[in-house]
Amino acid sequence: MEYRELGKTGKLVSIIGLGLEHVDFKPYAQVEETIDAALEYGVNLLDVFMPGTEVREYTAKALKGRREKVMIQGHFGSIDVNKTYGISRDIPTVKKYFEEMLRLFGYIDFGMLFLIDTEDEYNKVFDSPFIDYVQQMKQKGDIHHIGFSSHNPEIAMKIINTGVAEMMMFSINPAFDMLPFDEFVFDHQDDLGRELFRGLDPKRAELYKLCIKNQVGITVMKTYGGGKLLSPEHSPYSMPMTHSQCIHYALTRPAVASVLPGCKTAKEVHETMKYLTASETDKDYTRIISETPNDFKGSCVYCSHCQPCPSGIDIAAVNKYLDIARLDRDNLPPNLRSHYQALDGEECIGCKGCEVRCPFGVSIVECIAEAKELFGGNKNITHKES
Ligand code: SF4
Ligand code: SF4
Repeated sequence: MEYRELGKTGKLVSIIGLGLEHVDFKPYAQVEETIDAALEYGVNLLDVFMPGTEVREYTAKALKGRREKVMIQGHFGSIDVNKTYGISRDIPTVKKYFEEMLRLFGYIDFGMLFLIDTEDEYNKVFDSPFIDYVQQMKQKGDIHHIGFSSHNPEIAMKIINTGVAEMMMFSINPAFDMLPFDEFVFDHQDDLGRELFRGLDPKRAELYKLCIKNQVGITVMKTYGGGKLLSPEHSPYSMPMTHSQCIHYALTRPAVASVLPGCKTAKEVHETMKYLTASETDKDYTRIISETPNDFKGSCVYCSHCQPCPSGIDIAAVNKYLDIARLDRDNLPPNLRSHYQALDGEECIGCKGCEVRCPFGVSIVECIAEAKELFGGNKNITHKES
C-alpha cells in the first residue's frame, strides 16, 4: 500500500481506503470479513457516513483492538429516516447521531460536514450554530480535523474559502470531471453515446487549484460513477472502464490523497486491491478517453502514457502543476512551487519520445520549459537551452 499526506491535516492515508456504505444492513460476519480484508492490505482510512446504529456497532466491533490502526471519516448531519439516509442541521438531532459515533469509536479523525451541495445547505451549516458545534468538538479533541463532503465545485470552493476545512470528500471520475457540474452525465448521451466530452469542467479545474493552494486534501467518492462507468450498458464511453482505470484516474488528480470505494465483501476488496499490483498498461485510462470524441487535443489528462522518460521526469506531475499555475499566473500558490521543486528527474534532453507516446498531442517539451519559467526552475528538471 502507498500512503499520501492528506492536505494540511498532515495525516498519511492509504491511497485506497474503504467506504462502508454497502455493508449497511449486512450481517456482522460480512462486515467483519470486509474490514479484515481491507486492513490486511494496509487500508487505514474508513468512511462511516451511515447513520444506522447496527452498521456502526458492527464496524466498531470489527475494529476492536485495532481502532488506532485506522482513521475514520465520521459525518455531522447524516441521519437515519425510516432506514434511509437523511440530512439534518438541527443541533439536537446532529448531536444525537454524532455522540453515538463517539461512544463507539472514542474519537473521530475527520469530522465531516455532511453533503453540502447547495447555497441553502451552506447557509444552514455556516450561518447557524451547526458550525459552532463542530468547532467545539474539535477544540475538545473529539474530532481531530474538520472536513466536508460535496458534489458541487462552486459550493466546495466557498467552503474552502471559509478556512475551516482541512480536507474534503469529493466525487471524482472522468465523466464527472468533463461536464458542467449541474448536468447529470448519464443523461447526456446521444444515440451513439457521443457528445459528452468537452474538456475538463473549468469549475472543477478551479476547485483543484484552490485545494492545492490551500492545502486541502481530497478523498474521493463516486470513483466508479456509482458503478456506471464499469457497466457496458451505462458507461458513457464506448466501453466500460475497469476498477483500476477508475482508481488511477482519481489518484492522478491534483490534491487527491485517497479513493474510498464502497466494498461489501472480502472478494470485492481483493478485486479493488488489484490496483496495487496492476501494470501501467492495466491502469492506463487514455484509451477510454482518447477513442471517444473529445476536446482534449493539446491538453494533459495526467495519465502518464508518455512514460518512460529517459531523464526520469514525472511529466504528468509537471503538467498538473503547470495547469494549476496557468489558471492564475500572477498569484502562484507558494506550495505549488514547492511541490514542483520537490520533483525528481534530470535535464530534459528534448528527445520528444514522450510527445510521440502522448495520445493527446501535448507539446511536452514546451510545457517543461514553461513550467521552468513559471516556477523559477528546478535543480533537477531543466529545459535544454537552445
Ligand atoms: S503529456 Fe500526454 S501522455 Fe503524458 S500525462 Fe499528459 S496527456 Fe498523458
Ligand atoms: S523530451 Fe524531455 S520530457 Fe520528453 S521523454 Fe525526452 S527527456 Fe523526457
